[in-house]
Amino acid sequence: MSELLLQGELVAGREFATADSSASLRNDNQRSNDNGNRRSFDSSVAALGTSLRMTASGVDGNADVDDYDQVDEEDGTPFDKLREECGVMAVYNHSDAARLTYWGLYALQHRGQESAGIASADGQQVNDIKGMGLVSEIFTDDVLARLPGHMAIGHTRYSTTGDSALLNAQPISVESTKGLIAIAHNGNLVNLGTAKERLERDGALFQTTSDSEIIIQLIAHSKQSTLVDCIAESLGQVEGAFSIVMMTRNRIFAARDPHGFRPLSMGRIAGVDGEPDTFVFASETCAFDLLHAKYERDVKPGELVMVSEDGVTSRYFDTTTQQASCVFEHVYFSRPDSKVYGRWVQQSREEMGRQLARESGVPADLVVPVPDSGVTAALGYAAESGIPFNLGLIRNHYVGRTFIQPEQRVRDFGVRMKLNPVRNLLEGKRVVLIDDSIIRGTTSRKIVRMVRAAGAKEVHLRISCPPTISPCFYGVDTPSKKDLIAANKSVAEICAFVEADSLAYLSLVGLTHACTKGEPAHGLSPGSFCTACYTGDYPTQWVDVSEILPAVATV
Ligand code: SF4
Repeated sequence: MSELLLQGELVAGREFATADSSASLRNDNQRSNDNGNRRSFDSSVAALGTSLRMTASGVDGNADVDDYDQVDEEDGTPFDKLREECGVMAVYNHSDAARLTYWGLYALQHRGQESAGIASADGQQVNDIKGMGLVSEIFTDDVLARLPGHMAIGHTRYSTTGDSALLNAQPISVESTKGLIAIAHNGNLVNLGTAKERLERDGALFQTTSDSEIIIQLIAHSKQSTLVDCIAESLGQVEGAFSIVMMTRNRIFAARDPHGFRPLSMGRIAGVDGEPDTFVFASETCAFDLLHAKYERDVKPGELVMVSEDGVTSRYFDTTTQQASCVFEHVYFSRPDSKVYGRWVQQSREEMGRQLARESGVPADLVVPVPDSGVTAALGYAAESGIPFNLGLIRNHYVGRTFIQPEQRVRDFGVRMKLNPVRNLLEGKRVVLIDDSIIRGTTSRKIVRMVRAAGAKEVHLRISCPPTISPCFYGVDTPSKKDLIAANKSVAEICAFVEADSLAYLSLVGLTHACTKGEPAHGLSPGSFCTACYTGDYPTQWVDVSEILPAVATV
């Protein structure tokens, strides 16, 4: 059932209730700092410590999803792809900042489909609207009209910590002794226990289970004299992955953790007729294209950027930590039309395919990608090997979360709903099947079976990254180690499990080579990446030890 409110009105026929269902509907989404008459959205949410007040609002929606197996009909496992964490967006100095943020979030939808939100500010008031579902379902013209102002930040989320309730949707807006702050966060903090205990000893009362609240509590409790100092000090105290955008009534902040786990880029829209430029920030540069914004640079690891009427300023809250940016952004998460860590994802992905062909080529008649994420690597494999490429599997893009199942359990039904083989291409062929990962192995087995059932003579599975052997603690939803097939079986055993004629993964050296080939000397290097899910070697100290203990084979 839907939760939440938009200034106490029904929107698009949806039914609303406040985040606390015991509270009545209120038109409290606006906050004003004039006359000392501050109104915060939900009076039922207690003040945070002595200095904070949290807001929560939202609109319900019905998510569509991209993963092949949201629920595996054979074994009941929840999914067979790693899932991206969140996407963030910010706009400074545009008369329709909320709409631009909406467009940006729309382009970032692949980074999270559970909830989305936008907070806007006009120099005096801050409004925020959040909801469950897809960006396009939550933000209609009417809804966007309730988000006036020249600044906005936005968030699209797939939950990685905290539960999936609307209360944890972002941006989170708080009133504090430092003024009003709205925050949107991509990533996971890993020293939550320590920081949270310390804050609670200082009187903080946590209202959500979202780790993003740690950052705003730290800012609120900081003793530094200026807000920018408070933010810098707070960011220096947390460990883990955070690419964040923050907004006050008149400023935008953007920051990345010192390892630079998750991406965050800055762009600019040139002002017309002498008007000042608009500045934008986004998790991926594909969000800039709809806005006609030009990519300017990345927010650097350990950097805090501030945009105000005085222009753009920057400072570093950490300069000593080795960069460890998530390599899986280039393997799978990010869109190939994005520049991530300053490098085109398409370029890396195609090179992964080329390198895979060099490392583990096999005589074959046809290279077939598992759509969509395997396509670019398959093009690289085909170019390098000289084996023709074709779309031997067609994806149905219109499969939603709910569909009517057959009354009797039908083998591999879920995958067959979403992928269908092109029989006349596959019949009698030796096929190289390219995919970006094998997580549990169940979906890969179904796809191999499907290609073989369509008449393929041989099916050789090639994976454009190394075996995934360890869970991620930095904002990616990973199954437990016991459910990662490569943590429990050898490559030969996995090959037998997925029923392929042969199986090969890209080597770790091959992967980092593919993500850095052609980079200038001062650019990305193989050491710039986190590769912990392939090595078990984590860049931070704070990880869940029980998750990295030797796995118990269950498959
Ligand atoms: Fe990315 Fe894997 Fe590192 Fe997580 S553990 S940040 S998915 S490379």
